[in-house]
Amino acid sequence: MGEELGEVEKEVLEAQAVADEQGNNVRALKAAVKKGEKTKEELNEAIALLKKLKLELDGKRKRFDELVGGGSASSVNKEAFRRAVGNALERRMFITQSFSIYGGTAGLFDYGPPGCAVKSNIQDFWKRHFILEENMLEIEGPAVTPAPVLKASGHVERFTDLMVKDAGNGECHRADHLLEDVLKKMLANPLDGGKRKEIENVLARLDELGAQELGAQLKKYEVKAPDTNNEISDPFPFNLMFATSIGPRGDVQGYLRPETAQGIFVNFPQLLYYNGNKLPFAAAQLGQSFRNEISPQQGILRVREFTQGEIEHFVDPEHKDHPKFSRVADLEMLVFSREKQVSDVKRPVTMKLGDAVKSGIMDNETIAYFIGRVYTFMVAIGINPERMRFRQHLEHEMAHYAEDCWDCEVESSYGWIECVGIADRSAYDLKQHAAATNKEMGAWITFDKPKFVEELVVEPISKVLGKAFRKDAKTVVSALKTMTEENALKMKAELEKSGEANLKAFCDGGDFVIKKDMVKIERETKKVSGKFITPGVIEPSFGIGRILYCMFEHTYYVRESAEGEKEDDKKVVFKFTPLVAPTKCTVFPLLQKEEFNVVCRDVCNSLVDSGLSTIIDVTGTSIGRRYARTDELGVPFAVTVDHDTLEDNTVTLRERDTCSQVRIPISDLCATLKNLSSMKTKWEEVQAQYPSQGGSASAAKEENRTEATYSLRCP
Ligand code: AMP
Repeated sequence: MGEELGEVEKEVLEAQAVADEQGNNVRALKAAVKKGEKTKEELNEAIALLKKLKLELDGKRKRFDELVGGGSASSVNKEAFRRAVGNALERRMFITQSFSIYGGTAGLFDYGPPGCAVKSNIQDFWKRHFILEENMLEIEGPAVTPAPVLKASGHVERFTDLMVKDAGNGECHRADHLLEDVLKKMLANPLDGGKRKEIENVLARLDELGAQELGAQLKKYEVKAPDTNNEISDPFPFNLMFATSIGPRGDVQGYLRPETAQGIFVNFPQLLYYNGNKLPFAAAQLGQSFRNEISPQQGILRVREFTQGEIEHFVDPEHKDHPKFSRVADLEMLVFSREKQVSDVKRPVTMKLGDAVKSGIMDNETIAYFIGRVYTFMVAIGINPERMRFRQHLEHEMAHYAEDCWDCEVESSYGWIECVGIADRSAYDLKQHAAATNKEMGAWITFDKPKFVEELVVEPISKVLGKAFRKDAKTVVSALKTMTEENALKMKAELEKSGEANLKAFCDGGDFVIKKDMVKIERETKKVSGKFITPGVIEPSFGIGRILYCMFEHTYYVRESAEGEKEDDKKVVFKFTPLVAPTKCTVFPLLQKEEFNVVCRDVCNSLVDSGLSTIIDVTGTSIGRRYARTDELGVPFAVTVDHDTLEDNTVTLRERDTCSQVRIPISDLCATLKNLSSMKTKWEEVQAQYPSQGGSASAAKEENRTEATYSLRCP
């Protein structure tokens, strides 16, 4: 495809040059005709040729747009799609701007009733999938954090983004985003020679550019401030933490936590004790994090307060194999390795996790195991696996202490979005907190089998030393005991060669001549049963809001209007998996009759009693419209009470996406819906068990069709 793009790009540029030249000819001819130097026929011929050339150029340009996949038509589609999703989310109050009656504040959002329900379903599943199934230790700590904690973790000094200021109005912008926007716009047009490759390379390395290089690139591509087109300043770091003070005196500096992870690290000693002093183990925390983003944008994708779920898996750095790795080894997914990102191809490849570890692309089984668990989590909540990839951080994109990092990126109308970061953070955080507090942040690990290790043992002979050095004997003993291995070996060699050696006591305690009978220096084999280590940490870090938004985009579709319906009868549907759907079931009476309503209330109560969120809709609108209303809320199942119900205690159960229906006894409803909602049972199994309601039944007739056609608006 790269070659074809190169050729088409060349053809567009050539066709453009030819058309431009012909345009000049036409202009010159027009002037000449006015002066009577050329005839009208000659001008008309030239205009006809220009039209033909422009048509050819349009055809080539179209092909080019298709190949770059972002041409103007495609980006218009994406924006229209995004607007449609946003409208549906706002109309049904999934998400709204916070404080909107005061004009709103950038980067702050409210979740309305269905938004809260979907979010808490995702969070509950997160707890089940990770904390429960992996036996993790959950904690909940405060968001307000004293400054020393975040000084030790490096956030006070380094939790920054590079910012530029508009030289005219002082408006602040994220430097890398400005460069990215300009470069992406350039790529959407045909470029000369090696320019495309050059820009693609800068984009691939964007996340690893420091202030100086980023500044140079901004200058090179003549990036100006958006909206005003003013000059911009050089990039400089801006700390993203919200500062605050703790207590009434205002003299204890604090910050709102920028991540939940530090709350886990500072509890490591107690958590280790709680876990019976055994490694490995993982602790997890779900809660609010705060980042004063320079330019919050893209709806809830980049906000100033968001829910984060973080897992810290503490492990012996020398044993990063995982006992359950075989369970995920055969999972296949899109893997975008560092090597592929910097190569000419720049495309992820489908790969099994087992192969990624075997080939060394993923550093160890534990990080790959978590990548596998993240993958199954994302798919279960409704992320399309074909639009999800795991991208490895580039060398300089990783923190200096990190050993390997991967982002789970999901494709949305905004492009590829980092939703989960999975990082091998080594022992950095624990060591930093240990150094800052002088507290023990390590763990004793017992070897499977005792090991026999050779050690250099220095044994001062106190009796001889006491006689020889009297009051200085203690200093000499201590100096001998704390000698480095190198110095001890030197002393041993000297003693063997000349019978004596010089010893320098520390802190200018003086020089002493040591004789052969004063010290024994020997290599000895010792049996050791374990050792003290600072554990390494593997951290999957989830942004719940980002995952939620990408899931909204992946589950949104518009059901085309059925024959006979008006164009504006197109219905918006969120095909939420039953697991995350805000409401599992809606109950309707077919007609507005009290005897139907009574049964509806009973059915609804028993569903709620068995833990299924259910709503009842007894409004007088047509059943078709009522279905449309619940489809837009993503309710996966609907129960209709009709005349037959009063006769035989059965109801119609409809599934949202297929619009197919079965006739089911009320007595089976709770158990069936429970199994469907927890995804233990598939709809097809229910269809096989109960008679199909088909198009003949009253509810289906009301809806006027049995089959739906879908149109996914997003490419
Ligand atoms: P990080 O600690 O920067 O790796 O972030 C961990 C996760 O938090 C990311 O993968 C995102 O999903 C999420 N996240 C980070 N910053 C924001 C933000 N400003 N708004 C929403 N989610 C965010």
